[in-house]
Amino acid sequence: MFTCKQISKVLSNGDYQKLSPIRRFWLKLHVKFCVFCGKYNRQVIESQDMCRCYKDSEEQLATTRPRMDELQKDQLKALLSSHSSKVKESK
Ligand SMILES: [Zn+2]
Repeated sequence: MFTCKQISKVLSNGDYQKLSPIRRFWLKLHVKFCVFCGKYNRQVIESQDMCRCYKDSEEQLATTRPRMDELQKDQLKALLSSHSSKVKESK
């Protein structure tokens, strides 16, 4: 059985999906029923799930993402470089 401190440490070290199935089961069971760390660690698990889902479908989303016009892209680059040079001069 895990303690709240161990659960939080495991979740902060990385993706919980990479744990062994038994450790993942105990972790999820603890988080589901713990009144002390459950609410916070459920949110950590949700955010890890969201990040994993986005990472998995990132390439698929990239094809549907709107593209910026090359001319607008160059104008934006020029604007950013002029502003960054002004910031450097003011320092
Ligand atoms: Zn706990």
